[in-house]
Amino acid sequence: MRKIGKVLVIVLALVMLASVAFACGDETAGSGAASGSGGQSSDGSSGNQSPPAASAAPASPAASSSPQSPPASPAASGSPQSPPASTSVPAQSAEPAAPAADITVESGVLIMATNAEFPPYEFWEGSKIVGIDAEVAEAIATKLGLTLRIDDIDFDAIIAAVTAGRVDMGMAGMTVTEERKQSVDFSTSYAMGVQVIIVKEGSPITDVDDLFDIGGFDIGVQEATTGDLYTTWDLEDEGLATITRYRRGADAVQALVTGRVDCVVIDNEPAKAFVAMNPGLVILETEYAVEDYAIAFAKGNTALRDAVDVALRELIADGTVKKIVDKYIGAD
Ligand code: GLN
Repeated sequence: MRKIGKVLVIVLALVMLASVAFACGDETAGSGAASGSGGQSSDGSSGNQSPPAASAAPASPAASSSPQSPPASPAASGSPQSPPASTSVPAQSAEPAAPAADITVESGVLIMATNAEFPPYEFWEGSKIVGIDAEVAEAIATKLGLTLRIDDIDFDAIIAAVTAGRVDMGMAGMTVTEERKQSVDFSTSYAMGVQVIIVKEGSPITDVDDLFDIGGFDIGVQEATTGDLYTTWDLEDEGLATITRYRRGADAVQALVTGRVDCVVIDNEPAKAFVAMNPGLVILETEYAVEDYAIAFAKGNTALRDAVDVALRELIADGTVKKIVDKYIGAD
């Protein structure tokens, strides 16, 4: 009996869908094409008003493909717990891939969390956040037909904002590490970073080995960065150094200038920028660590991660990323 009822409902729903498809056949095809090409057109908005049978189905890729992500994400929370049989069955397999507008926290907007204290990747210029990450993200958003919004928060808070679904992605000269991979998924890497050591001219620290061999130094780092993590594990945990953690890299460098720490371990590009602003500081030749920068996404948010990854790979392949990097770093 129940079976027959279900079958009837399916047949009814299919008939309804078919008639809707016939009624607006041209429009449907048009909006599908627009979303496929990621154009600026409001591909998502017409979908919002689409027939109830389709929109009520819990088939949104963002929802279905993020088993680990918290239900806080609007895409997930929009889907009912257990929809009545009559609305759950039809048409989901016929749905086209979600347009980019529908796989972000806020429809049509790509929200990037960063910490705009990291020149030349992200920094404030007047009232605008600029830099390599800001421009690459802008190019990605344009490719996906989305408007970029950048949220400037503590570096320490970026991964939590991503995993809680408050933002779409974290992009902050962020190093791919095994530990971070436990909580977020990363895009393709788009840049290489190097952890370097900044000292005052004439410092007894002349290379990385001195931190271990001489020992007893006070090292300044930006909290929760890989500079912090590595020196903590390698040196502080071994009783070989004291680590002082600052909210911003610039604060750590200021502590070095005023003699409160003996050196700063930080990424090479911001290091160059900070040293250029503070005469009397030098970057040691030796590298503490070489790493890859990538964009972080909520674990399991493959719909958005994949969309961004395709765009990013294209921007790498066609030389756009290199052009942006060269603009800020120069061809050295
Ligand atoms: N690359 C470093 C990290 O990921 C620092 C990034 C930053 O300070 N914005 O930890």
